[in-house]
Amino acid sequence: MSFDIDNCNDCGKIFIRKNNGDLCPACTEIEDNIIAMIRRYVREHPGQNVTEVSEGMNIKPKLVLRLVRQNILIS
Ligand SMILES: [Zn+2]
Repeated sequence: MSFDIDNCNDCGKIFIRKNNGDLCPACTEIEDNIIAMIRRYVREHPGQNVTEVSEGMNIKPKLVLRLVRQNILIS
């Protein structure tokens, strides 16, 4: 059994990587919640770009962009 130790992409904490995610468990949970919020926001405000979504929701554009790149959101 081998462990893959990595630094969290968001908070920088060291964690054991279990899947392809690049976030520690705490940040993964936060991101899951944010993804759900963004999905709802995009449904209610269709046609907004990454900047408008991040400003409208007061979250980091970097995070919105990451979700777009992972095809969780459409740009
Ligand atoms: Zn983290």
